[in-house]
Amino acid sequence: MVTEVKTIWEDLGEEAVAEVESLSRGYLDFISEAKTEREVIDFFVEKLKRAGYRNIEDDIELKSGDRFYCINSGKSLAAGIIGKNGLDNGIYMLASHVDSPRIDLKPRPVYQDEETNTTLLKTQYYGGLKKYQWVNLPLSIHGRIFTRDGKEIRLSLGDREDEPIFLIPDLLPHIAKMQRDRKLFEGIEAEEMNVIFGSTPEKSGDNRFKDRIMKLLKESYGIEEEDLASSDISLVPAGRAREAGLDRSMIVGYGHDDRSSAYTTFRALIDTKSPDDTVLAMFFDREEIGSQGLTGSKSNFLEYIVMLIMRKMAKRSDPADMLTLLRKSRVISADVSAAMDPSFKDAHDTHNAARLGSGIVISKYSGHGGKYSGSEANAEYVAYIRNILQKHDVPYQFGTLGKVDEGGGGTVAQDFARYGMNVIDAGAPVLGMHAPFELLSKVDLWSCYRAYRAFLLH
Ligand code: MN
Ligand code: MN
Repeated sequence: MVTEVKTIWEDLGEEAVAEVESLSRGYLDFISEAKTEREVIDFFVEKLKRAGYRNIEDDIELKSGDRFYCINSGKSLAAGIIGKNGLDNGIYMLASHVDSPRIDLKPRPVYQDEETNTTLLKTQYYGGLKKYQWVNLPLSIHGRIFTRDGKEIRLSLGDREDEPIFLIPDLLPHIAKMQRDRKLFEGIEAEEMNVIFGSTPEKSGDNRFKDRIMKLLKESYGIEEEDLASSDISLVPAGRAREAGLDRSMIVGYGHDDRSSAYTTFRALIDTKSPDDTVLAMFFDREEIGSQGLTGSKSNFLEYIVMLIMRKMAKRSDPADMLTLLRKSRVISADVSAAMDPSFKDAHDTHNAARLGSGIVISKYSGHGGKYSGSEANAEYVAYIRNILQKHDVPYQFGTLGKVDEGGGGTVAQDFARYGMNVIDAGAPVLGMHAPFELLSKVDLWSCYRAYRAFLLH
């Protein structure tokens, strides 16, 4: 099934095509609507509640068949189902991330440049992106602002047709001699990524342009300038994700990394009714910057949720019991991989590169160079995963990110491996990863859904 490279489209039955299209439609709506980690968590939690999942932090007990969720600071989430076997065989976990590369606002973003008749926003990029790709691009602004007295203000502007969009302008080519001598990656420098936010002044005053913008923010949202320091505000590519290719076989959109894995993980969980073993889907934040911080996978959220599960099942939950449970648990780190780029094949080892349309990519290891800073799945566990996928007739492929010494990357896998859990990376192959718009094949999305669901059922 996997040894010969071919595209899944070749022998896809009518019923499967209908499944592929239906999953893709749901995904298109999801990534078009939920563009930041907070929006993704809100999107999922609303659906979990409707599906009968209960907040594990409420005064509840858990028994076989019960569904639960737990939110971490509004930006990461865990949700699961207690299996018929309880915790006897460990927990089957899917771990994805819901943050994507983007442009954040600095704490003091607004400034005016009277010489150019503009008011601008200072930004700081988030995640590993090629800065030159993010200029002259329609951007929408998404965020939450918290006032001093704790009031939450939601901001989402630029994704509806009747809303204004925002732009970081690049220098026109006619007079771009200063850029010609720069290397590609330095074509746009971080401090040149300023958003034009407005161009009209107040009638009078020392800061007429800035005052005008602050007045509009006050009138529309009740925001004072200092409120912007207590906010999470990001600029992301504006507009909806779209079908791509004349044959409509692909999807172009912002943030397939890693919302394609998050969505298929979520759907796999929701479609699992009464699993034999306990299952847990996790949606982390901050993966793109190394997983550190309050809502990343290096926080103790995993321990916290597992302790809560044990306690709510009226089991002992001392650290030794928890570690024993974790050691026999199994994980798929659900994260995208690189599809071989047809115009840059030289960056890949073509014999080990993943193909667009050949299904979920099983990555035995991550890291760079001599496997530095990565996680590696045990051979036994790779065999275990192969067995499950074949049993459930899921198309899959093996792949590595690129040529050795060409670069590399990491995932949340190592944060599970440190507990002695078997973990492996598996997700869709993506073209143009970390660019404002990424390319994904519909059948790879479908393969991920099938694979994650197979793992939960095993
Ligand atoms: Mn990722
Ligand atoms: Mn990434």
